[in-house]
Amino acid sequence: MFDVMIAGCGPTGAMLAAELRLHDVRVLILEKETEPTSFVRIVGLHIRSLELMAMRGLLDRVLPHGRRRPAAGFFAAIPKPAPTGLDSAYSYLLGLPQPVIERLLEEHATELGAQVRRGSAVTGFAQDDEGVTVELADGEKLRSRYLVGCDGGRSTVRKLLGVGFPGEPSRTETLMGEMEVGVPQEEIVAKVAEIQQSHQRFWLRPFGGGIYSVLVPAAGIGDRAEPPTLADFQRQLRAIAGTDFGVHSPRWLSRFGDATRLAERYRAGRVLLAGDAAHIHPPLGGQGLNLGVQDAFNLGWKLAAQIRGWAPETLLDTYQAERHPVAAAVLDNTRAQMELQSTEPGPQAVRRLLTELMDFEEVNRHLMEKITAIGIRYDFGEGPDLLGRRMPDIDLKQGHLYGLLHHGRGLLLDRTERLTAGGWSDRVDHLSDPTAALDVPCVLLRPDGHIAWIGDDQHDLNTHLSRWFGDPTT
Ligand SMILES: Cc1cc2nc3c(=O)[nH]c(=O)nc-3n(C[C@H](O)[C@H](O)[C@H](O)COP(=O)(O)OP(=O)(O)OC[C@H]3O[C@@H](n4cnc5c(N)ncnc54)[C@H](O)[C@@H]3O)c2cc1C
Repeated sequence: MFDVMIAGCGPTGAMLAAELRLHDVRVLILEKETEPTSFVRIVGLHIRSLELMAMRGLLDRVLPHGRRRPAAGFFAAIPKPAPTGLDSAYSYLLGLPQPVIERLLEEHATELGAQVRRGSAVTGFAQDDEGVTVELADGEKLRSRYLVGCDGGRSTVRKLLGVGFPGEPSRTETLMGEMEVGVPQEEIVAKVAEIQQSHQRFWLRPFGGGIYSVLVPAAGIGDRAEPPTLADFQRQLRAIAGTDFGVHSPRWLSRFGDATRLAERYRAGRVLLAGDAAHIHPPLGGQGLNLGVQDAFNLGWKLAAQIRGWAPETLLDTYQAERHPVAAAVLDNTRAQMELQSTEPGPQAVRRLLTELMDFEEVNRHLMEKITAIGIRYDFGEGPDLLGRRMPDIDLKQGHLYGLLHHGRGLLLDRTERLTAGGWSDRVDHLSDPTAALDVPCVLLRPDGHIAWIGDDQHDLNTHLSRWFGDPTT
């Protein structure tokens, strides 16, 4: 029997498995595909995800595979420079192919001891007081204490659970692919700049090696269920640009819509949802994978605590309380971005106005903090503004703070030199550093790097240690 079975070995499932393994939880990932995906799509890791990678010692592994870009121009692709004052040591975007990040996360999970079974589609499950029995497509039954559906937007787990997925169906379809072009780059740059004056859902971007990433509206292209063809791209390019740029030799072709939906609940008993299984939205601002990986980071240590037996009663439910509003906000910002990409005069006027407003550094920074998820503040109750926010990677006498978080434990970062993690020291590390670049005497960090307490009083600290880390060990 496993402690946790995870349906789906995408980025969310792999990240969750790794987080659970940090706490010695027995994990099995069930993945329906027999081979890892070969569908090359470039995704961007945003600041918060890069921070998570740094917190688990993964960044050095990921960086060589990607290209760094400035943290700029994400919101509705409005071209503005990176805002000043982003409070992060990782203020850039790392573009890399999705299969690469999936492979790296899966390797990380399996190195930590997670098991992955490919060719194992979850088709049913039943839960009782003790655990969950999962049924696979071939009729095999497996048992675990918890099941997490990380099985993507069409999640079988969510459907079997009967959890509603309200929102809007897709109204606007877009073609996206990678292919070679038959005209010189200068010609493309000039033409694309001209068309983007009125069409934001249009680009031809050089990808390296003579390959271009092509994005064009799919209006009028028939059956959604059928994969698009090169001829579809050529026709749409001609309709909008008056030329098909001689596109040929596609590497992959796909289409996506702007369906926007959020699961009503993230948990029903012993079954939970994370990633695209819990929320879908158009890919504007490149947030979906980031959101899923961050769900996993939030859920991992809480579910591990539940299984290890030290979780306070309400800890697991803070997963939904914290992450549901974050996803709702992402859905909202993608709705707004979709509107801003419309070619209608009203939305175009709003876009021009927002473009002006973004010249104010504060507006530009606010939107950047939204898209990159570094502006998130969980509601931990009354307290200073820092409470509930993520802790940036500050310098300490022992090195970087994030270097001390690789094992997924809590951390008491203490400038007073008189506090202690006491009976929680098996779950919470204590670092006494009077020189730490902190404006407050002491912070308690959760394993996900969010600030759970600020103060200098041991009694108050103990109350908060109990709140997040359960009873002390005597
Ligand atoms: C065109 C486009 C561009 C995008 N660009 C970005 C970007 O730049 N940045 C970004 O952050 N996001 C981007 N996204 C979104 C991102 O790709 C998704 O949000 C991300 O893949 C979600 O990860 P996931 O692990 O939750 O789900 P998925 O990646 O969908 O993985 C789910 C896994 O579950 C498996 N599975 C499904 N059903 C079952 C079952 N019954 N049993 C077992 N296994 C099952 C699947 O085979 C799959 O491996 C983009 C999306 C699109 C369409």
